[in-house]
Amino acid sequence: MVEAMSKSIGQAEVLVAGGGPAGLAAAIAARQAGFEVTVVDCAQPPIDKACGEGIMPDGLAALRQLGVRIGPGQAAQFRGIRFFNDQDQVEADFPHGAGYGMRRTVLHQLLVDRATEAGVSLHWGARITGLSAQGVAIGGQHVACRWLLCADGHNSLLRGLAGLDVSRSALRRFGFRRHYSVAPWSDFVEVHWSNCGQMYVTPVSDNEICVALITRSPSVRWEDALPHFPALGARLKDAQPGKRLLGALSISRRLATVQLGKVALVGEASGSVDAVTGQGLSIAFRQAIALAEAMRGGSLQQYEVAHRGIARLPRMMSTLMLAMDAHPHFRRRVFRALTSEPDSFRRLLALHTGAISPLKFGFRETLSMGWHLLAA
Ligand SMILES: Cc1cc2nc3c(=O)[nH]c(=O)nc-3n(C[C@H](O)[C@H](O)[C@H](O)COP(=O)(O)OP(=O)(O)OC[C@H]3O[C@@H](n4cnc5c(N)ncnc54)[C@H](O)[C@@H]3O)c2cc1C
Repeated sequence: MVEAMSKSIGQAEVLVAGGGPAGLAAAIAARQAGFEVTVVDCAQPPIDKACGEGIMPDGLAALRQLGVRIGPGQAAQFRGIRFFNDQDQVEADFPHGAGYGMRRTVLHQLLVDRATEAGVSLHWGARITGLSAQGVAIGGQHVACRWLLCADGHNSLLRGLAGLDVSRSALRRFGFRRHYSVAPWSDFVEVHWSNCGQMYVTPVSDNEICVALITRSPSVRWEDALPHFPALGARLKDAQPGKRLLGALSISRRLATVQLGKVALVGEASGSVDAVTGQGLSIAFRQAIALAEAMRGGSLQQYEVAHRGIARLPRMMSTLMLAMDAHPHFRRRVFRALTSEPDSFRRLLALHTGAISPLKFGFRETLSMGWHLLAA
């Protein structure tokens, strides 16, 4: 099967290694920019993966730019984020638009359909095993390409082979995901904090929610974690859990560089922020658009700069959230500061989703937040 597949590819103008959300978005964007595009993935669609399944408003805007249309019944809207810690609770609406929760398989199928419609050539069930100056090896056969976009996930084989596996930093946590059959009780994504990590709830349809757990401890299992989140446990008591519990690593990784010659990394292969930020998909979709623009301009240097800009804010938020995770005392202070001035949370969320720039967030807000933190 692999042989037949690689014979039929022969060569490609743009070869995308990995057909997850990042690879398919990169393929669609490159196709929209006028390139001939081929995607190769070792799995079969629709591909499932442990994920909180929330897409922030900026990610939805990028999806619209890629021509992906989300139909009625395929997703559930959420209007903002609500945090819980012990007795404290703070929430804010997104300043512009809503986010969407949707099953990972639904999102993947939508991207596959859009890629097909755009004229991308898709090859499933084919593993890329090597890299050469001309292109890649697939099951012992070589496929030459002009551009190689590596979207093969956080454990990227091609990143290492291309010599781009130089991490500035990397931290890992452990993630799980389970669906529950229950009508969503809230139109917020709810993030519950405890000393065991975070559990967050995303509505994905009128009668289903997705619950994700992210923890530092490799030995914690779903059943061990639930008692650490009593308010959520009470909500889930009568809900029917789905049979599949999926796990995946949540990696915060920053690479020294994300392109070299004709090779570019995109999505988690190009570095990532902690899953609790809920930004992984949005970042990947925005990178995909920036990458196609850089290819059209003929230089991947432009992508390197754009990539750094896209990752900057989510990385800051990831650092803050990881500090809140690691230091319960600091977390309590942050919660006290946010509850005493709820508008700060709204401004932080606006910053997080790109609705306001760091410059607009401003010195005054930073100073005021710092003061509230100290006072708390
Ligand atoms: C627990 C958890 C919760 C999360 N929650 C959220 C959330 O709520 N919102 C959000 O935006 N993000 C979330 N994320 C992050 C999000 O899931 C990732 O950002 C996203 O999956 C990255 O997509 P990707 O395409 O880069 O990688 P992947 O989805 O991993 O895709 C990589 C693809 O490459 C293929 N592949 C790998 N190696 C090869 C090879 N050698 N040959 C051929 N194919 C290959 C794989 O089959 C796969 O299809 C979460 C992550 C975790 C772990």
